[in-house]
Amino acid sequence: MNKDDLCPVCGMTVDLSVPSVAYHKLYFHFCSSQCRQTFLARPKLYSSGAREEVIKRRVMRLSEAIDEEVAALIISYLTQMMGIKEVVVEGEKVYVIYDLLQITKKQIEEALSEVGIQLGGGWLERLRRGWVYDSEEIELDNLAASPAACCNKPPPGA
Ligand SMILES: [Zn+2]
Repeated sequence: MNKDDLCPVCGMTVDLSVPSVAYHKLYFHFCSSQCRQTFLARPKLYSSGAREEVIKRRVMRLSEAIDEEVAALIISYLTQMMGIKEVVVEGEKVYVIYDLLQITKKQIEEALSEVGIQLGGGWLERLRRGWVYDSEEIELDNLAASPAACCNKPPPGA
């Protein structure tokens, strides 16, 4: 394998300690276990090479307003994740811009709850959250099912 390989999910240099994945007789290497999991969910979407970003802007509501120190921690924690472009915290709201092809809202919110950040818990919030999770999964499924947008070169193996 080539250590200069780029991660098929985010385009960064691969980390050789992350186990590779065989797909259609090709071996794929990844920069992180996060990208590996993303690839495994929809390998077809990431194995063709040509790929554009699907930028999402969302607001996540926390159960209470947080102080600057905690806000700084949330920002540095989230921006370390693959696919997160920008994080702004204002009171109890967290504004996140991310590439859906690299990370979903569900993954971001799970990461927040892993570090003990409580999300707003009203029934309407939970309903909205579930709806966004489903719509993102459907969007990714549709992208995986459609042919690559770029036709300059044939897909590998064609
Ligand atoms: Zn990656």
